[in-house]
Amino acid sequence: MGQEDVIRLDPWGVSSIKDYRRLMEEFGIQPIESAPLKELPQLHRLIRRGFIFGHRDLNLIIKAVKEGREYAVMTGIKPSGDYHLGTKVTAEEFIYFTNLSSKAMGFFAIADLEAYADNKIPLEKSREIAISNLMDLLALGLDPKRVYVYRQSEEMNVLKLAFIFSRAVTYNMMEAIYGDKPFGLYYSALVQAGDILLPQLPEHGGPKPTLVPVGADQDPHIRLTRDIARKYREDFGFILPAAVYHKLIRDLTGSMKMSKRNPMGILYLTDSLESARKKIFSAFTGGRATAEEQKKLGGTPEVCTIFVELLSMHFLEDDKKLKEWYWDCKTGRILCGECKAKAWEIISRWLSEHQRKREQMRDVAVKLLEEHTLT
Ligand code: SF4
Repeated sequence: MGQEDVIRLDPWGVSSIKDYRRLMEEFGIQPIESAPLKELPQLHRLIRRGFIFGHRDLNLIIKAVKEGREYAVMTGIKPSGDYHLGTKVTAEEFIYFTNLSSKAMGFFAIADLEAYADNKIPLEKSREIAISNLMDLLALGLDPKRVYVYRQSEEMNVLKLAFIFSRAVTYNMMEAIYGDKPFGLYYSALVQAGDILLPQLPEHGGPKPTLVPVGADQDPHIRLTRDIARKYREDFGFILPAAVYHKLIRDLTGSMKMSKRNPMGILYLTDSLESARKKIFSAFTGGRATAEEQKKLGGTPEVCTIFVELLSMHFLEDDKKLKEWYWDCKTGRILCGECKAKAWEIISRWLSEHQRKREQMRDVAVKLLEEHTLT
């Protein structure tokens, strides 16, 4: 097996996955088509278009939706910066699965302990970033009445669970799952296990199916938490947490390494229109070397960030229009300059509208965060 074929999952660093089938086989993730998706009232575009590729126990959630029984959807964000296209994917999944049933309850962790352990961001700074993150989440459609928002550093139940769970793991186990990491990151992994199992505590209505939408690189956390839930099943009655997995997103330069060191590659939901426009017009495309060649041979939308990461993943909801766009590119009917201008029209409209909405959400965001703050 060549070095480039090695699957490397690092929830805090750079992950490398070339082959999602092999990832699923290696770690026991089920293909998304194996879940009874037809029983869901509507399918999110991320599922329809294959960006959500796998799951563990999603059938438990679908069953709860169908039978009108309670379930939880759990996610969080490490408050280290504003929402961008990568983090927007998880936010949309969270909102979609929470909105599928009036019996669903969302749990949203502000992972300020992890932000400190990983990026040394002071807890108070995390609070400011978290408010901005919540504004985005609300503007994307989160119902503030159906979500429990908390900061890890202040949620005693999560901290207690992390402490309890620490009895069930050894240094060698953590090293086998995560590789050699500072102890603070191992600890924050236990805190995340506490986050994921929090909805099943008596304070939140007891054991219930719980879904965690994650990027493929976060699977080590899911495996660890499922293992812990198994070990503590007798004490707490835990149901193993379910998960859905989405593919890792490239940045706009076409690189898998979404890094703040390459600011032109990351489109933030808070970017000014001027900055967003620059990023989009310099994005990596599947265009040919010359216009003549492209007219003759067509473009390669499959590798183009405008087509895949922007239109398909995020900004063009209509499947029919997306298909037409694909064939316009593939047959050389459209060239990259015109195509980017067309995409920009859609994206700039979306960004302006989103930024208008998020500004109206500031007070609700502050209230959501303060409601669960210890005094
Ligand atoms: S025409 Fe559009 S979709 Fe096709 S390669 Fe160029 S930018 Fe990408």
